[in-house]
Amino acid sequence: MSNPSLENDTADSPLLGQIRAQGVSLPVLPNSFLRLFVKLNKLDQISRFLFQPGMLFNDTLQWWRSKKRSHAHEGIDIYLMQSFDKETCTVVPQMMIPAMLSGYMVHFHRDFLGETLYIRHPNIRQKNSVLHTLYGHICAIPDSRGTRASLPCAHIRSTGSSIGEQASAGLASYSFINRGQIVGTISPPPETSSVPAHLHISCAWIDEEQQVEELNWESMNTSAKVIFIDPLPFFSGKMDINLQHLISGTS
Ligand SMILES: [Zn+2]
Repeated sequence: MSNPSLENDTADSPLLGQIRAQGVSLPVLPNSFLRLFVKLNKLDQISRFLFQPGMLFNDTLQWWRSKKRSHAHEGIDIYLMQSFDKETCTVVPQMMIPAMLSGYMVHFHRDFLGETLYIRHPNIRQKNSVLHTLYGHICAIPDSRGTRASLPCAHIRSTGSSIGEQASAGLASYSFINRGQIVGTISPPPETSSVPAHLHISCAWIDEEQQVEELNWESMNTSAKVIFIDPLPFFSGKMDINLQHLISGTS
């Protein structure tokens, strides 16, 4: 799929140096993920998101150190932003993450920077697969990591509430989340990590026969039942129109 919303841009900020970055201006549609993200975090001065080589779907570089990735990038990394004044800044831990599509929270597990949350979209299907959106390097569902009674909607089973503790994984039951609702916050990376805090988003067709609870990043990369697709078209909100033919039922 082509990405008509990508713009070539020669960055001139100190942060980016001479590295060429592609930019994505904020889409017009108010429900687009990027607009929801900016609004939720009161980033009124942000006009666009920037992507260096390695940040986009299928890229093969690790953008934080220009080494090869072990797998082609399974999604998009949101890290760099640009203001209307052409100042470049980055996302930071605790920034809130809105759901880009409504769906059911079905799984989460630790990843190398935080946690990855899986949201299932049962009405968006293709053959035997169901669309899932994945949010990586986050603290899933802020303020919900205490006692079970304090969970606002998801009944997340947690054995560790902060980075570095024993892995936490699994959801006791599925909970629905509406587009724009907060799925979590950007996780602070572990102290030993050289990778800066950022948000990873993947979109994947997952075979109906696949037990989602069994998935993690390693298994997804080798499974024929998980097909990653480029998340960028979903960011604009325009993907909603293209999805209509895939949506069964009336919702
Ligand atoms: Zn990533």
